[in-house]
Amino acid sequence: MKKTLFVAVLFITSAAHAFEWTPAEERQIAAIQKQVKRDRDGAWTVERGNYAFRSHDARFTAEMAVYTALFEKAFRDTMPCKTKLPGKFKITVTAYDGNNDKQRNEIFKRVGFTGEITTWRYGWGWGEGSNAYFFANKCFSESQIVLEHELAHVYLFLMGLPHESLRFIHEGFASYFYPKKQRVPLSYNLKDYVNMSHAKWFDGSVSVQENGAASQLFMYFMMEGPKRRELLGTMLDRAFKGMKPLTDAEIKKLEPAWNAYMKMTEPEQREQSHLSRIREGR
Ligand SMILES: [Zn+2]
Repeated sequence: MKKTLFVAVLFITSAAHAFEWTPAEERQIAAIQKQVKRDRDGAWTVERGNYAFRSHDARFTAEMAVYTALFEKAFRDTMPCKTKLPGKFKITVTAYDGNNDKQRNEIFKRVGFTGEITTWRYGWGWGEGSNAYFFANKCFSESQIVLEHELAHVYLFLMGLPHESLRFIHEGFASYFYPKKQRVPLSYNLKDYVNMSHAKWFDGSVSVQENGAASQLFMYFMMEGPKRRELLGTMLDRAFKGMKPLTDAEIKKLEPAWNAYMKMTEPEQREQSHLSRIREGR
């Protein structure tokens, strides 16, 4: 039986900006790199706290470990809900070598991917249970966006939102960390999408790209201003409990501001990781 693995897929079509490590972080990376060991499958592996990291390259693995610790903190600080990411968990983060065509094709086959990626830039990953997987770009700084995105999916899962539920929240929040605002069709009707199931999201009747862009923009919209932020927190807490995220009345009240927000949003060209933006004070 084919497993439904494409629960948290992200495509990125252009490269990210470089991320500068501080001297202290460089020392940390060097120290972790000494602990990285090659496992039976040939992956460079290290266990750190709540995580196991695996990749095709020892330094890459060490960089993932340092970056993930920073990102976990940023994620905790960002989430506007009462539900917290648990203190203890076990996440395995696996990065495959995006430049290894043979391995990539084998994995595509294994996970049942039958489509073709023509604008391949190695920014492709998925989350399954408490595992995050992605294909690494040629250097770590170009892989941060997809790492952040897939980690966010896994964190949401650990907070109570199954991967195969409420795509609008899952993709929206995971993509909130993928900071390129995209054009959203102006006819976008919030009510149709907020409660959209995973199955509907991927059934081909609506554009996955447009849904992704809209769900991301919606999170930007909700994160603006204390009142909407608070409602977003409530919405998330409800979703984690398996409840409907927003009532029809709440959606109706939000709609005029949402419609205006969609109209005035200019797409951003830059693609940067969440932490790059924090460092630049954006
Ligand atoms: Zn995703």
